[in-house]
Order: sequence, then structure tokens, then C-alpha cells
Amino acid sequence: MVSSILHCPRDGSALVSPDNSQKSVFLRNGISHCPTCSGLALNPNAASSEICIKKLEMIHDGFKDEGISLDICCPFCDSEMKVRDFAFRKIDGSLTELIEIDGCPNCSSIWLDAGELQRLSPPSGNTSNSPSSEAGALAIVLDLLLHLPFVFV
Ligand SMILES: [Zn+2]
Ligand SMILES: [Zn+2]
Repeated sequence: MVSSILHCPRDGSALVSPDNSQKSVFLRNGISHCPTCSGLALNPNAASSEICIKKLEMIHDGFKDEGISLDICCPFCDSEMKVRDFAFRKIDGSLTELIEIDGCPNCSSIWLDAGELQRLSPPSGNTSNSPSSEAGALAIVLDLLLHLPFVFV
């Protein structure tokens, strides 16, 4: 089977598929990452984690009828994506900082800019990371966040 190459909705770079990533966290959450901007694309069909798949479906419900249309296309199905503000509820009941998530109203995929997740993750102290290892660090943050409830704001 020939798998088609997906492209970053921001800069057009060919995305690295979960199968070609070194880290299991990409496969677990069906994450394709951009080797240029460290952005993450999540697709439930590529994910093996039930928690992730359920969460993506719940997030998708929030994009069917709501959200602001964007001039970018879903890497998976070419539909016009939408953007919404979003926060995760931490264990102590407080909310994380708001982050923007781009969602596809058609296929349950989401796109996260690296900068959005960087705002939620503590600084690594290592600024010489390559975009791919940065994407790996962000995927680990996201893997933890997907266990938390979320709210659209
Ligand atoms: Zn990119
Ligand atoms: Zn889509």
C-alpha cells in the first residue's frame, strides 16, 4: 500500500508519519509532525491509544458546527479547517492557559502549532533541539494533556 504524503498546513513541508517516528508517543496518538515548524497533526485513524481516539472524537464534536473558518486545509482530507480556543482542566480543578486548536470539521483530525503547546510545557532549558526532537518533546506533553478533561472557551 502506498501511503500518500501529508503536508504541513503552515509551511507545506512533508510531514513525518507516526510510522517513521522514533518515539512510540507518536504512534500511540497518531501524530504526524512537521520537521520544519514542529507542529503536530493528530488523526484518530492513525492512533492506537483509546484515550486519544475518544478525546479526538470529543474535540471533533466542537468543530462540527462551531469555530472560525481558517484559510488552511486539513492535511488528511483537504477540508477547510476551523480554529477554537481550548483549555485542559488540571487535576486541581484549575484550567491551563488557553491554546488554539485547529480542527477539521470533516475528519476528526486536529492540528497544533508548536508555539501553542510550548506555552503549556515548562521550558526544557535546551534551546539547541532540532525541530523533530522538539516535536517529540511536545508530543510527550500532549500525551499527558490528552488524559485531562478539556473545555472549549
Ligand atoms: Zn510546518
Ligand atoms: Zn480532515
